[in-house]
Amino acid sequence: MSTSSQEDRNRPVLALVAHDEKKDTLTNFCVEHRQVLEHWELVGTGSTAKRISDATKLPVHAYLSGPEGGDAQIAARVALGEVGAVIFLLDPLSAHPHDPDIQTLQRVCNVHNVPIATNLAAAELIIQPKTINEQVE
Ligand code: PGA
Repeated sequence: MSTSSQEDRNRPVLALVAHDEKKDTLTNFCVEHRQVLEHWELVGTGSTAKRISDATKLPVHAYLSGPEGGDAQIAARVALGEVGAVIFLLDPLSAHPHDPDIQTLQRVCNVHNVPIATNLAAAELIIQPKTINEQVE
């Protein structure tokens, strides 16, 4: 199930986050694209990371849950240039108490030109082989 940290260092980081209403969608997406995701070092907010790791048996480093600061932790890594792409499936129909952190994550992605997919159609584009090739070049 786990990969060595040496292997992880050679892979671009893909951050995975999904609001509660989107967790099934993101989990199913990750199961469907499991083979492609093996080429990434996966990280995610607490609950999302656990759901995806359980379903795919891939290692997903879990930060704090989103409302407790997980989005902010991922934003910090994006700002440091350590994240290749973010898939953040937003629930646009609900309010979230940690909205400032959600905005921050999107903002730092835009500041640093890091691709961020906030819906499934964009997520499909992010995990295209072309994207991973650009990350490792
Ligand atoms: P979670 O956080 O994966 O810990 O549920 C996601 C979020 O709401 O930002």
